[in-house]
Amino acid sequence: IKLSQIRKTYKQGGNEIRALDGIDLHIASGEFVAIMGPSGSGKSTLLNVLGALDRPDHGSYLLNKEDISVMNDDAASDIRNRNIGFVFQSFHLLPRLTVLENVLLPQRYSNSPDAQAETRARQLLERIGLATRMDHRPGELSGGQLQRAAIARALLNQPALLLADEPTGNLDSKSAADVLNLLSELHAGGQTLVLVTHDPAVAAKAQRTIHLADGKVAGIAA
Ligand code: ADP
Ligand code: ADP
Repeated sequence: IKLSQIRKTYKQGGNEIRALDGIDLHIASGEFVAIMGPSGSGKSTLLNVLGALDRPDHGSYLLNKEDISVMNDDAASDIRNRNIGFVFQSFHLLPRLTVLENVLLPQRYSNSPDAQAETRARQLLERIGLATRMDHRPGELSGGQLQRAAIARALLNQPALLLADEPTGNLDSKSAADVLNLLSELHAGGQTLVLVTHDPAVAAKAQRTIHLADGKVAGIAA
């Protein structure tokens, strides 16, 4: 990941809000990076840019040498489906589907349906300790189990980059520790991980912590 002079401005009423104001950032393949900063500092906007959900109005974003900042929506969504997995604070699992069906959702939006996807989904769920919960609906799982299922879903298409927005923000400390252990294991296995967090325990596991303030990189701690 190579971000150069990324700017993102929102218009609100007559005002312009510069959510990102000249971000330069390099993230190597296999790195585990935490993003921290006060509310309004631009963390979610940065994650949205990294996830190709949002395009910057200035600057370039290279992911695996492809410039995402100049792509149209179709090309960006293709990159997203092939290369990027998302995990959210509030899990975003669909309540009427089973856990297995939820994990298989990324395949529904894939241009190249994959006959191995179900096998992979089952293996992922086994690996993260949810083998006996595959055919349950989300309402029957604990928060920690829901987030681990959401991580399995994010990994289904074997994304180069896993992004997470406050992945432990809705969890009690034991569930948060389970999720953090899973993230650390993924990192140990070579997964590139970028996550926004307020949780110092999560940041402590990351190799680097990027501190944002007013849309700028205020500091990087290793
Ligand atoms: P954080 O995630 O650190 O709380 P955000 O990236 O959500 O920060 O927001 C950065 C700034 O951009 C804030 O001032 C916020 O109000 C503004 N902002 C974010 N999204 C929008 C939007 N869709 N429309 C207008 N302003 C926005
Ligand atoms: P974990 O530590 O893995 O997050 P918990 O100790 O919170 O799990 O939950 C233990 C068991 O109780 C889980 O297997 C889960 O299926 C069940 N459980 C937890 N919360 C709920 C709930 N709100 N509704 C139904 N079952 C639940």
